[in-house]
Formats: sequence, structure tokens, C-alpha cells
Amino acid sequence: MHKQNIKNLSIKEISLIIEELGEKRHRKTQLLKWLYQKRVNSFHDMTNVPLDLRKKFDKLFSISALHSTKVIVSSEDNSTKFLLECEDKLLIETVLMKFKKHQTICISSQVGCSLGCTFCRTGKNGLERNLRSDEILNQVIFFKNKYIPPRKRYNIVFMGMGEPFLNSDNVFRAIEILNDLDAFALGEKRITVSTIGFPDKIIEAAKSDLKFRLAVSLNATTNSIRKKIMPGSKNISDTLSAAQKFAELKGTRTTLEYVLIKGVNDSDEDAKRLAKLTSGKPFKINLIPFNTWDGCKFSRPDEERMGKFIELLLPRAPAVTVRRSRGSDIGAACGQLSYQKGSTTDKL
Ligand code: SF4
Repeated sequence: MHKQNIKNLSIKEISLIIEELGEKRHRKTQLLKWLYQKRVNSFHDMTNVPLDLRKKFDKLFSISALHSTKVIVSSEDNSTKFLLECEDKLLIETVLMKFKKHQTICISSQVGCSLGCTFCRTGKNGLERNLRSDEILNQVIFFKNKYIPPRKRYNIVFMGMGEPFLNSDNVFRAIEILNDLDAFALGEKRITVSTIGFPDKIIEAAKSDLKFRLAVSLNATTNSIRKKIMPGSKNISDTLSAAQKFAELKGTRTTLEYVLIKGVNDSDEDAKRLAKLTSGKPFKINLIPFNTWDGCKFSRPDEERMGKFIELLLPRAPAVTVRRSRGSDIGAACGQLSYQKGSTTDKL
């Protein structure tokens, strides 16, 4: 009999199964705690669950896990990139970033990406497939098991490989588990989903009970430049009005990410247009100096140009920050994630 992967079930589906098995409701809580707080890999280890129920679970379900095949530590700033291997041998890239008071894990939602943004290394190789929700959750479990001390604060950013909103069923199901108090218990301040912005999906998420912060990768102030560097992107005004709606419905601010690329989107006019597009809106602007990679035709503006851009942007735009990208020497910074086919992998 084919066993169902239990980490692909939503909270509602788990509740339903417990009900169908004629069990009391608290078994759902026990199950979630064992899977996501104690993170066991076998139903037999769920010691406060009656033995016959453990046997039933084991007959019906499997518990999946991910293992790392290669670890690369940045010499610059303690960022670590991990390659995790799926059952079908495809590799997922993830990054762990250590800060004084917390750690941030950058996880992937797809293997590769179909959107082909011209400045992004992940987009260069196309899409292999969507990740299932168990594979998304298992990235977090991998770090919790090995690299995040108990009680250490950690945040999750969906900024690895892939466009989360093109795999929204699996991403939303995983976020439901990340939010649940019996599972990971992470609130909206602890999870950020970065997207190039699909207005209908943004509105769907805004109206849902899911708790996360939204970051929209804007990167241009005219539709023509945006389409040129992000061929899969939607119209700027539709994207920004959905981003605004998300902020209003969730009572937060949406971050607009703006990768500064020399000669492409860094002019005085761009700065003024960006200020006009965002003035008085519930946004934060995060400027990201472009991180170059082998074979890429783009480069980052010099300090003087970036300074002028910020000077023109600041008076009218909402909060502006400049992101110091971490891990750029190991290809782990924003837009650099892409496992190079044919690379050797070191089993740990
Ligand atoms: S920037 Fe994001 S959406 Fe664009 S190709 Fe890269 S991973 Fe895909």
C-alpha cells in the first residue's frame, strides 16, 4: 500500500484523519508536536501516543527528511550555503546567515525558476520542478536539527531558488504549519515571502489567515525596463496596488526590493519615479546593490551613483534601507543561488 507523506497534509486534513480514525482531538496536537517540535523521523518514537495508533499511523503515512550534500562557508561573514538533496536527487540551495541576536534561514520554494530575470543566476537554468510542502518544511527542520540552538531566535525568508507564488499551494500549506502554535509557532514578523509580485496571489494571501510579511521585488520604475529585466513580471501599478492592499489588510508595511544595477535602473529619473510611486504608501524600500556572478553582464553602480540615488529618493519615499548582502563570495547572496550542474558534491 502506498503511504502518504504526512508532512504534505494541511492542519485541516490532519484533523480530519484523526476524526476518521475515531481518535480524540488532542491527538492532532500530539502529532504536530512530534513532527515539527520534536522533529522525529519515526511514528514509533511518539511515545505518548498509544502503540496501536502509532502502528496505524505507520501503516498509512511516511515521514520524509532532507539531507545535505555540500556545505560552503563564506569567508567574509559567516554565511553558509547548503545543498540539500531531494529523493529524486535534485538539489535545493539554502543559506544560513548568523547575526548577533538571531539567525536567518533563506529557503527555496522551487528547484530552479521559470521566470528568467536577466540579473538572476537561478533564472538562468530554468525550472526543474515545484517543491512539495514537506520539502519546504524539511529545509527548516534541517536547520533546526543541526544549526539553530533551542530557544535561539530565527527568521525564515523565502528568497532562495524559485518564485513562491508560482508554487502557492505548497508554499501556503507550509506557511500554515510554520504559523501553527503546535508546530513551529512562527508569527508574521518571523517569515518573509519575496515575490516578483503576482497581484491575484498577493490579494489571496492578504485575505487569508496566513501570517507572513511580503517583499515585492520591484527593480524598475517603468514597465518597459521591468519587462526587459524581469520578463515574467506584471504591470507595476497592479503589483503596487496589490502590495498596498496586503499591507493594509495585514496591518503592516510591504517591503519593495530594488536591486540597483548600473546603467539599467539607477538614474536620477529612476530615483524620482521610485519616490513618486511610493510616497505616502505603506511600503519600505530596500535597496540592494547588485551582486555580480560569473557570466553576468550587469554590475553594481559605484558608491557616488548610489549616494545620489538615495539622496533623491529619501525626501519623499517611505523608510529606505540599503541591504548589505551576505555571502556574496560563495554565490549565496540575493539573486546568486543556483546549483551549477556537474559540480562535485561532498557527502557529509
Ligand atoms: S529573481 Fe526570483 S523570480 Fe526572478 S528568476 Fe530569480 S528566482 Fe526567479
